[in-house]
Amino acid sequence: MIEFKKVGKIYPNGVEALKDIVLTIEQGEFIAIIGLSGAGKSTLLRTINRMHEVTSGELYVNGVNTRELKGKELRSFRRGIGMIFQSFNLVNKTTVLKNVLTSRVADMSWWKALLGLYSKEDKLIALEALDQVNILEKAYTRADQLSGGQQQRVALARTIAQQPLIILADEPVASLDPITATQVMNDFKKINKSSNITVI
Ligand code: ADP
Repeated sequence: MIEFKKVGKIYPNGVEALKDIVLTIEQGEFIAIIGLSGAGKSTLLRTINRMHEVTSGELYVNGVNTRELKGKELRSFRRGIGMIFQSFNLVNKTTVLKNVLTSRVADMSWWKALLGLYSKEDKLIALEALDQVNILEKAYTRADQLSGGQQQRVALARTIAQQPLIILADEPVASLDPITATQVMNDFKKINKSSNITVI
């Protein structure tokens, strides 16, 4: 459960992006935040995983006051929250599978991560995630050879392989044509239903 308790955010330059936000989101909900450009949607999303610090009020995620997290606890908290952007942020010159596997790096020892020595379990998790978004047959294709919609599916698979409780998606289909956008949104809905992941 995510609870905003009178959350405010004032950026260092004085812009008040959020004011007294009171909002409760249950685990497994599929939520859309709608508003004009500059209304504060991105800021709101980014306070949930502490990419941005709130400046007043309290924000709880699964009973944890996010303002109190630091160091190792903060890093492991962030791992439970996936983030998807309008730009897909894939590594272009490498395969789809390797892109998805990058989400497993946080749980590996540094030298295995450096050498790309992923375990069989990690590979199975990554392939399963690709299957969930219907793009398994592209596992060994280079990321930059895919269409925009396919690339966003890979980004979604990468996030699923991170096994998060929450996915924060900031305008995930804004750069796609309407038909592809609908298909990608349907993938989000499917993942939300089948895995009970909160999608915002
Ligand atoms: P939206 O996602 O709804 O378009 P944003 O959350 O990006 O809105 O922005 C909300 C307000 O905060 C805007 O006025 C924007 O200019 C401002 N803002 C966003 N990011 C920053 C930042 N890093 N520093 C200062 N002001 C910012």
